Amino acid sequence: MNTAPTSAPRWVYLFGADRTDGDAGMKTLLGGKGANLAEMANLGLPVPPGFTISTDVCTAYYEAGRKLPESLTPQVDEALETIGRIVGTKFGDTDNPLLVSVRSGARASMPGMMDTILNLGLNDETVEGLVRRSGDRRFAYDSYRRFIQMYADIVLGVDHGVFEDILETFKNLNSMQLDTELTADDWLEIIESYKAAIADAIDRPFPQDTGEQLWGAISAVFGSWQNARAKTYRFLHGIPDDWGTAVNVQAMVFGNMGETSATGVAFTRNPSTGVKEIFGEFLVNAQGEDVVAGIRTPQHLTEAARIEAGSSQPSLEALTPGTFAELVAVFDKLETRYRDMQDIEFTIQDGKLWMLQTRSGKRTLEAALRIAVEMAEEGLISREEAVMRVNAADLDQLLHPTIDPDSEKNVLTNGLPASPGAAVGEIVFHAEDAEAAKAKGIDVILVRVETSPEDIHGMHAAAGILTARGGMTSHAAVVARGMGRPCVSGASALQIDARARTLKIGSTLLKEGDVITIDGSTGQVLHGRVKMRQPEMSGNFGTLMSWADEFRRLGVRANADTPRDAEQSRIFGADGIGLCRTEHMFFEADRILAMREMICAEDEEGRRAALDRILPMQRGDFEQLFETMAGLPITIRLLDPPLHEFLPHEGSELTSVAEALDISVEKLRARVRELSEFNPMLGFRGCRIAIRYPEITEMQARAVFEAAIAAGKKTGAPVKPEIMIPLVIYRREFDILADVIRGIAREVEAEHGVSLDYEIGTMVELPRCALKADEIAAGEEGAAFFSFGTNDLTQTCLGLSRDDGGPILQTYTSAGILEMDPFVSIDVSGVGELVQIGTERGRRVKPDLKIGICGEHAGDEASIRFFHEAGLDYVSCSPYRLPVARLAAAQAALREKGVG
Ligand code: ADP
Ligand code: MG
Ligand code: MG
Repeated sequence: MNTAPTSAPRWVYLFGADRTDGDAGMKTLLGGKGANLAEMANLGLPVPPGFTISTDVCTAYYEAGRKLPESLTPQVDEALETIGRIVGTKFGDTDNPLLVSVRSGARASMPGMMDTILNLGLNDETVEGLVRRSGDRRFAYDSYRRFIQMYADIVLGVDHGVFEDILETFKNLNSMQLDTELTADDWLEIIESYKAAIADAIDRPFPQDTGEQLWGAISAVFGSWQNARAKTYRFLHGIPDDWGTAVNVQAMVFGNMGETSATGVAFTRNPSTGVKEIFGEFLVNAQGEDVVAGIRTPQHLTEAARIEAGSSQPSLEALTPGTFAELVAVFDKLETRYRDMQDIEFTIQDGKLWMLQTRSGKRTLEAALRIAVEMAEEGLISREEAVMRVNAADLDQLLHPTIDPDSEKNVLTNGLPASPGAAVGEIVFHAEDAEAAKAKGIDVILVRVETSPEDIHGMHAAAGILTARGGMTSHAAVVARGMGRPCVSGASALQIDARARTLKIGSTLLKEGDVITIDGSTGQVLHGRVKMRQPEMSGNFGTLMSWADEFRRLGVRANADTPRDAEQSRIFGADGIGLCRTEHMFFEADRILAMREMICAEDEEGRRAALDRILPMQRGDFEQLFETMAGLPITIRLLDPPLHEFLPHEGSELTSVAEALDISVEKLRARVRELSEFNPMLGFRGCRIAIRYPEITEMQARAVFEAAIAAGKKTGAPVKPEIMIPLVIYRREFDILADVIRGIAREVEAEHGVSLDYEIGTMVELPRCALKADEIAAGEEGAAFFSFGTNDLTQTCLGLSRDDGGPILQTYTSAGILEMDPFVSIDVSGVGELVQIGTERGRRVKPDLKIGICGEHAGDEASIRFFHEAGLDYVSCSPYRLPVARLAAAQAALREKGVG
């Protein structure tokens, strides 16, 4: 029989070898690290040769129940030979062994989440080959012990603490401080102890077969895709579980070959501030993660940074100007190619530069804004792209306080300004305690010697992070910047006793629960609660927002009830007020009595007398609001809450209110009883009150119109109020109240000899209103605008109370019924459909019907995208969410155009 050979799928892609198979566009297949290594090789940069085992293998591995495909073996063997040939070595060869790193690399970068093994290919024999080839025993044994330690930890599951203990004990016995003090023979001794400890732990010797080592490592990387750390990270960052990781196998280059070797990390711009300057650190005679692990204090790359930090350790710029210049050229090339700030790993082996990684770097919001704006100004990216580069929800951070420079400060110590912003909280020493406190609503500062990936959940829960060790690129610093948590790192004066839960700084002894303030912008650690200051919108933030405004179609208004809210909303760039609730105008101390009088009055005459006293106060409020908004549109909603909210319920208060109202306590109590409801949310509220007591609407309409005339005169900007009727479900309700309003308008017009420009619309907050939208909007006299009240619309569509639904939502989230809290991000398929129906039916009868939304959802990024796509005219959110909404609206519009 003659069967044609079936060709196995291609699993392996070379880079930096005779050829490079991948490029930056192949992240899905090669993972981010692999695709970018290939791209750097394509750019002609010095990349140690290697190959990527694709994410398809990860999928196949899990599909086969954690088994690698057989056809992978020959492909890996061939690729190994190729890279061995290029570097003049052979894998497993005792004289001249090829050593490789085995590196994970998912599609989205997951720093610190997946494990990397260095120096693989060493055993008791090949290490002697390395000794001979390098002529450096110390280097060879140092490499071997690193390999044993990493391999045992990651692949064999031996706790890394075992190795740290052995090394610490050795150093203590020999009065040594730094790893660099150990000699070749010292390392040899350590290696023997390591191997003994491993044999002890796993009941078999450390694997000497380099093939077994390699396949063990490859399987471990694929296996680590499902480890707890990686899962947590994916969960927190919304990375799908089925993406999988690639594995990169790459010829080793050595930063630990003595004084002319080094390893370093760098950013092409400052990831904290965004300033266009080289930012990074390196360590001489070190390997891999040494720089970020906080083992020794790293040196600065540039002279400027060294001088600023007051360090006596030479910078790379001063130490090896040639290599430094080469690095700068590489940075330029990479930024031009990627059109974004790059986060770079490099190694210098005996004076020669090697590039090991590049990716778009994580950055603080401040840096993101600056980099986006400056790159657009440099012409590297377009303004549209700049607007897409900043995560809208992150802007929320800018609306957080910073330390008031005039406040009284008791500075305990200084660390590095690792992630900007200030935070106040109670001290906790363990990630679990941070989570527990967060659950109770307590703000905490997580204080650690240094952080590791196991601490991520606690860092997330903390208001701020403080560490005793580690530089600007330490784990704590990188992760905190990514999360937008303020962080002070490397505050070496901290004496932390995590077990006793105490922290000593100089002579001050603090314990768990004591309050401190940290300032991640300056590095200060302060005693107690320090005064904070509110932020403003200026600089790059302001510039980017003005660009966003050019691109958005959706209007962005504010929910503002008071002149103060209105002022804040103007500062944050509102196009108008989309919801002014009038109830607070009745609640204030000087008016609540009149309101109560109105509610308890025997007859219409009594009610009118009380309303007459409220009228001037309400008119005054509206006048101020109109003046502040100077001609911008304002939607005013008529009285909405149930009347019993205005009455007292407690015994003692009943007595004093009855006295003030000059009625008997019995009578007041009877009225309270009469108005009380089992389910106020579905009760006597909104337009239902106005239908029963139209004189309330008359008074409110008069206050609005008279204020509009007065404010218009004062500012010269004509005011066009939009009067909104709440809780409408029948056209007839709307007609009755619209007639009342129009009647008052005619009266006011006659009294003042002016003609009023105004609109009457309705809130859409009950499903029936959305369904009957065409009826309610039809004709000249129908609703001129809609505003979806998505809080109530969600409650009534889902039949779920926002106030009592918490436990149900929690159950439903853990049962996998709900992904998102529907009160935070709109339920697109359910409530969203009501929005679509209401919009479509309303516009069918009135094509120019103005439609907005004024629920909490108006400040939520995902919801805003939906409202944009649903064709709404504007969203109206809390003043403090305005920047988020403006940017999210622009991004929704740009995404539709295919930008970013
Ligand atoms: P991570 O994704 O956690 O950054 P990496 O795969 O980038 O892990 O590797 C960890 C460390 O090892 C990095 O500092 C990297 O530069 C270094 N490294 C990886 N491969 C090599 C190699 N072939 N030669 C020298 N150093 C390497
Ligand atoms: Mg890396
Ligand atoms: Mg409502």
